[in-house]
Amino acid sequence: MITVTYSSIDRFRKKRSFKTLKGARVFAQNWVGKNPEIGSTYAVSGDGVGKITVAGAKLADLFGDGADERDPDAEYEAWENAQAAEEARWVNAEAEKIAALERPYRAFGCTCSDQQLNLVGCNCNPEIPF
Ligand SMILES: [Zn+2]
Repeated sequence: MITVTYSSIDRFRKKRSFKTLKGARVFAQNWVGKNPEIGSTYAVSGDGVGKITVAGAKLADLFGDGADERDPDAEYEAWENAQAAEEARWVNAEAEKIAALERPYRAFGCTCSDQQLNLVGCNCNPEIPF
């Protein structure tokens, strides 16, 4: 069990216990930020207003980028996002190919605006004399 206590100079106190370091990190960083001043017994927020003390873990474990702490959920999410981005790129590329094929026909001598061509097509086709 990891117990994290936050206290501020105006005597506000909040204490919570966590089973995992992850939860304790979120709580601690929420109160004093990701990179507070870390002393021997407590970590102080950058503005000096609040401090965190911890029992059951090291202060250093609660802060920093936690590079050595692997998070399978986050890694899976990142992988999933990459897959989705790849798929979106492919879909866009296909859509662009189709759009190129379906680009509105512009009759010779056409004076329609691009907007009109896209919306209703060319209406000045000289091959239709009426
Ligand atoms: Zn036209």
